[in-house]
Amino acid sequence: SPPQGYYTRRGGVGESGDFITSPEISQVFGELIGIWYISEWMAMGKPSTFQLVELGPGRGTLTEDILQVFKQLASVLSKCDVSVHLVEVSPKLGEIQAVMLTGGKVQPNPEDEPAYMKGVSKTGIPIFWYRDIQDVPPGYSFYLAHEFFDALPIHKFQRTEKGWREVLVDIDPEAPDQLRFVLSPSRTPATQNFIQPEETRDHVEVCPEAGVIVQRLASRIEKDGGAALVADYGHDGTKTDTFRGFRNHKLHDVLSAPGTADLTADVDFSYLRKMAEGRTATLGPIKQQEFLKNMGIDLRLQVLLQNSGDTATREQLLNSYDMLMNPEKMGDCFNFFALLPHHRLVHPDKKDKPESKSPLPPVAGFNELLLK
Ligand code: SAH
Repeated sequence: SPPQGYYTRRGGVGESGDFITSPEISQVFGELIGIWYISEWMAMGKPSTFQLVELGPGRGTLTEDILQVFKQLASVLSKCDVSVHLVEVSPKLGEIQAVMLTGGKVQPNPEDEPAYMKGVSKTGIPIFWYRDIQDVPPGYSFYLAHEFFDALPIHKFQRTEKGWREVLVDIDPEAPDQLRFVLSPSRTPATQNFIQPEETRDHVEVCPEAGVIVQRLASRIEKDGGAALVADYGHDGTKTDTFRGFRNHKLHDVLSAPGTADLTADVDFSYLRKMAEGRTATLGPIKQQEFLKNMGIDLRLQVLLQNSGDTATREQLLNSYDMLMNPEKMGDCFNFFALLPHHRLVHPDKKDKPESKSPLPPVAGFNELLLK
């Protein structure tokens, strides 16, 4: 909702906001993701141009850290034409991103342009802002969605003796200024369309908007090449009631004071995989601690510890490592998931002539056993 929605009005990512995310905890997180893109770019034969497209960039910290990696590896990327494309609905967060990434040097675009704003990063890379993924121009692209899909609206369903019912929001007749959950008296269009026939759970959350966006990403990757990395709270089709709210870093009743709290539901990666099926291959979900370990977080931590003189910095590095990696903290509940062109994982002619080509390099971060 443009006038009343949480992200369009408040959108409090960060320490002073309502919730904190991995890129806000440690620069190492964004650095390793930057390396993932470079590694995929190399594995895909170093195409002469790519777009980095981020969905829901928050404060812009993740893109900032990725652009630092691109700068450090400028000699590797020297012949590649890189541009950044941010999909953001929140005017307030768009402004914060502009300051973070360009130092505030941005200009609004005329209404008839697909991008509503443009600028140049502090490292010299052109950046464009859009409200919808469909506005991003086609082309070889690396997509990134970190804590994006969990922010999109869900439908909730409950299995009853009479069949599936949708959980709806109603005005409480006892207290007209309060909301309550009710079950639909009969089936709804959503119960008929969004529940998989093989579903075994009794309570299901479905995010059709996430499904549509993944279908779009998969079509774009199939047509123009590239890859998508999705990282979020989530499960592989096993969890049930995960819908919750956060305000000032505390759990908040999802039905009270609408529009003032961050509402979130775990991402169902099995549903995203289904939506990409046929168009791209998928990898994961793999736990954040495994992905970051595979990406070399331990080595990076050692280097940073060796280079830091003071105890406070070392303590901060160790604490943020623990926050990202500890299974009790963010290590286990966050997952990484990727969409890749089929030919990135299997040679097209592999079936006929298995020995004809050198093996494809493994996809960094993902254990090969997780190939799906
Ligand atoms: N990726 C960031 C921020 C996550 S918060 C991080 O990890 O720190 C979710 C982000 O998605 C915010 O930037 C929010 O404004 C944006 N967002 C929410 N709904 C959106 C939508 N429908 N389209 C585009 N962006 C959206």
